[in-house]
Amino acid sequence: VLALGAVSYLWATPGVAPGFFDMFVLAFVERLFRPTYRKDDFVLGKKLGEGSFGVVYRVSLAKKPSSKEGDLVLKKATEYGAVEIWMNERVRRACANSCADYVYGFLESSGKKSGGYWLIWKFEGDATLADLMQSKEFPYNVETMILGEVQDLPKGLERENRIIQTIMRQILFALDGLHSTGIVHRDIKPQNIIFSEESRTFKIIDLGAAADLRVGINYIPNEFLLDPRYAAPEQYIMSTQTPSAPSAPVATALSPVLWQLNLPDRFDIYSAGLIFLQMAIPGLRSDNCLIQFKRQLKRFDYDLVAWRKSVETRCGPELRRGFDLLDLDGGVGWELLTSMVRYKARQRLSAKAALAHPYFDREGLLALSFMQ
Ligand code: ADP
Ligand code: MG
Repeated sequence: VLALGAVSYLWATPGVAPGFFDMFVLAFVERLFRPTYRKDDFVLGKKLGEGSFGVVYRVSLAKKPSSKEGDLVLKKATEYGAVEIWMNERVRRACANSCADYVYGFLESSGKKSGGYWLIWKFEGDATLADLMQSKEFPYNVETMILGEVQDLPKGLERENRIIQTIMRQILFALDGLHSTGIVHRDIKPQNIIFSEESRTFKIIDLGAAADLRVGINYIPNEFLLDPRYAAPEQYIMSTQTPSAPSAPVATALSPVLWQLNLPDRFDIYSAGLIFLQMAIPGLRSDNCLIQFKRQLKRFDYDLVAWRKSVETRCGPELRRGFDLLDLDGGVGWELLTSMVRYKARQRLSAKAALAHPYFDREGLLALSFMQ
């Protein structure tokens, strides 16, 4: 009875998804029926990216079992690949829509020497949010991609706001899925958000720095894994009083408590808030401007309102227009932004709470457009 109770407790606890059942039973059954792959099954194509932890290629299958499976992405990862495989397996079963469609992962070995980890995903599309944001046309270049053919509305703040709102909703939806599963991504940035052409939504990629707090995987944060451009001010997502990773069963039992104590998911919320800011304000989209902004914000003790006051008086049209967008509908966008980008993790909204924010309230917006 105690064991059943413990399992159902874990099952029902928000923030921590089903534990043992998912981990062992489902994984075992799935292994029996899922196709497996080896190194020789793939033909390497164009290189898509290269980071310090791996190289990413577009690949196709040497022998295509069905033509649909032709377009794949391969990451040849270093030792962190093991964690990334774990995370992707977990996401695949618990919140598949949040991330790029994961196919398979394995340890590649050539002869006696063991190689790196190979991870395979479905090829989701050509563009990351970073690519799209670089265009002068942004956010209009995304409009038909996510909203379909739209009537020829006049270009303007309202229309830009609607597009940015849809992108933010999709990012927060994906984050909510990860966080409800017990995973914190820790590397949320436009480069790690891909546009899925099939589902016409933005999805999260690159779980190499993610932590699964439910079982304590990657529990000790690797400072050097964090991207300084988008990282929240806290260095550690969990209290430094518990610096060592608890063993898996202990962590599983403790994770709901630890989660509530530390709210590690709010690290990602800060990064998502910075993306929101960059989408709204073209003058903050480049790396240099973002870094400069972070420096300024630090000078104002991470008080976004104080920062705005200081730049508003002397800012050019690039910033001005962004503030105007955030001020639409009684400043509801600015309100959401300031509830995400806060110094104290505890004061930031959760992904779920952000999704329920009036900024995303369609009724409210529709009512407003009727009134005008
Ligand atoms: P890195 O560790 O190098 O940052 P990522 O997982 O972020 O690795 O992938 C690098 C790049 O490869 C991405 O920025 C994206 O352009 C491309 N990419 C990764 N996964 C996919 C996918 N499923 N579909 C299409 N492109 C992808
Ligand atoms: Mg990446």
